[in-house]
Amino acid sequence: MLYEALAKAYEAIESTSGSLEKTRIFAELLEKADKPEVDLIVGLTMGKLFPDWKGEPEIGIAESMAIQVIVVAASVDEKDVKEQLRRTGDIGSTAEVLLGGSTQESLFSEDLTIGRVFDTLVETARASGPGSTKEKVSKLVGLLTDAEPLESRYILRTVTGSLRLGLGDMGIMDSLAAAFTGTKDSRPIIENAYNVCSDLRHVSSVLAQSGLAAVESIKAEVGTPIRMMAAKKLSSPREILEKAGGQALVEYKYDGERVQVHKNGDEIILYSRRQEIITSQYPDVVEYVKSNVDAQSCVMEGECVAIDPETGSVRPFQDLMRRRRKTEIEAVMEDVPIALFFFDLLYLNGEDVTSKPLLERRALLEAIVRAEERVHLTTAELTDDEERLQEIFEGALAAGQEGVIAKAVHSESTYQAGARSWLWIKLKASYTEGMADSMDLVVVGAIHGRGKRTGLYGAILASAYDPQSNSYPTVCKIGTGFTEEMLAEFKERLEPHRIEHMSAKVESDIEADVWFEPVEVIEVIGDEITLSPTHPAAKRVLKDGGLAIRFPRFTGRWREDKDPTQATSVDDLIEAFERFRGLN
Ligand code: ATP
Repeated sequence: MLYEALAKAYEAIESTSGSLEKTRIFAELLEKADKPEVDLIVGLTMGKLFPDWKGEPEIGIAESMAIQVIVVAASVDEKDVKEQLRRTGDIGSTAEVLLGGSTQESLFSEDLTIGRVFDTLVETARASGPGSTKEKVSKLVGLLTDAEPLESRYILRTVTGSLRLGLGDMGIMDSLAAAFTGTKDSRPIIENAYNVCSDLRHVSSVLAQSGLAAVESIKAEVGTPIRMMAAKKLSSPREILEKAGGQALVEYKYDGERVQVHKNGDEIILYSRRQEIITSQYPDVVEYVKSNVDAQSCVMEGECVAIDPETGSVRPFQDLMRRRRKTEIEAVMEDVPIALFFFDLLYLNGEDVTSKPLLERRALLEAIVRAEERVHLTTAELTDDEERLQEIFEGALAAGQEGVIAKAVHSESTYQAGARSWLWIKLKASYTEGMADSMDLVVVGAIHGRGKRTGLYGAILASAYDPQSNSYPTVCKIGTGFTEEMLAEFKERLEPHRIEHMSAKVESDIEADVWFEPVEVIEVIGDEITLSPTHPAAKRVLKDGGLAIRFPRFTGRWREDKDPTQATSVDDLIEAFERFRGLN
């Protein structure tokens, strides 16, 4: 298929605001594509050539390099490119306009096929080492030389990560379902396969070439990260038990880093919440798994917690994160020893066990883990009594933990990869005060500081994540409660993500002095969630306005374990807003 067909579909998708219409257009395109190309189209549309966990280099190039590409491809001055970019704020249309006016018609131009675009982007991403900048620029110039202006618009947006179609993963899966099964009703099957294998290109290729039954048989495997299950939250033990189905396994909620451990013989891989390979940060965990887990192959989940070597008591999450920043891991291992608390088993000796109910999985886990000083199963107790639940919760707090997670144990209590459902419900101390919980927000902009804060940022503009449109609408401006160290850290961490204009993925009615790529996630608490005329989050759903967090404050915690798409979602905000409204 020609890339032109995809570019035209993108243009049509972009010009409609309705999500049904967007998925319809995309489904129509997928139907017309040659079957072996379907996964390439999906990769290009997600803006990800490969899933993160494959360890392939990312497609993203910096805007400054994209400017060089346009300079060479359109034979124009750099200052003209910058001027056009300043006016439009969009690298794609900058390329489109300047290449449209270019007189450099190539005599030997070749048609751009989907396969050629995909392969060239892979080669561009893989170019590394000395001279690679030149190589990357020249590969992209090669594409643009053969591209029509509209195609160059989307190539540039794709490589700079600013393809904003309003078609998130869900929309892509809806389109795949409609295109290859004739109905969106099969989306849950596709979604389930995606959650289990964490590779939507693979799922789409299986679907297009072998059909839905083959997708249904995609199972969890050792060595392939499984998208992690998440918890909902409630503040009343009575409601928690009701939602869980009358009784629950109430586990301590430890405040550390979640790890998904894949063991295949002596080969151990650790995946983080965002599916990065973090094996090298935890050589001690690798050793614990080798010595204390009795299984030929398995996939387990647990929480890694920093502890005080003298007393064995837990240390704050920030201490654990020091492991992330230090390169001399041996030294930090001594400084920040850890303990491991396992809580789930997803795969055992060749079998996917995610569809077994929780207590069965837990029994299998108990049978293979030999607990000792640094290796444990989470403290857990089965109860149907709300007072007992409250006592366990208080016991968890007294032991220095964050709270509890009550887990359903009924026959449907499977491990739901990638889902945040009522099967797991968390209860934390903060829920009884103020706004039900902290939010994890993405930093998208900043306002310059004045007076004592000159040279630093005075306020931070923060966004939630909207998975429907794959965008980051703002929800608050945080201007108070910063210590001097926090302000210095903001500057240091955010500066590398600074861009010249608002990111195409951000929605904001507020003008910031400085804009950032939506990358860094911070934890924020506030007093309440209110309707707001100034913030666009959830506006598409609520219509009367967006949602804002009132009196937001930074807790001091950077959520390095979260990828921006795992930040508080617009749906989480709506749910919290409605619960809050219900309470008042
Ligand atoms: P929070 O900020 O409350 O951790 P979150 O959005 O990061 O919320 P959730 O998935 O909602 O994460 O909460 C579950 C997290 O709690 C898990 O990702 C895991 O890291 C941690 N955790 C600690 N103890 C347990 C446990 N016993 N069972 C499951 N998860 C646990």
